[in-house]
Amino acid sequence: MRRESEGEKAQGEKAKKERQATVKKWQCIVCGWIYDEAEGYEDDGIAPGTAWEDVPEDFVCPECGVGKEDFEMIEIG
Ligand SMILES: [Zn+2]
Repeated sequence: MRRESEGEKAQGEKAKKERQATVKKWQCIVCGWIYDEAEGYEDDGIAPGTAWEDVPEDFVCPECGVGKEDFEMIEIG
């Protein structure tokens, strides 16, 4: 007897794919430090899964101290 329907399973797979498709990495163009949205930056109180647009405007690169405007997005995958 099956407890999990095919529909539920497909939905879970779809959600996973969408999450992977939307997660992005951002690279500091000054020093190369990378902000991974999937990991966040917990040293600075930024929870895993936090989109770059939700990172506070006063966030600065932990390596070189530049602000958000000096980061560039790099694609993953
Ligand atoms: Zn930097």
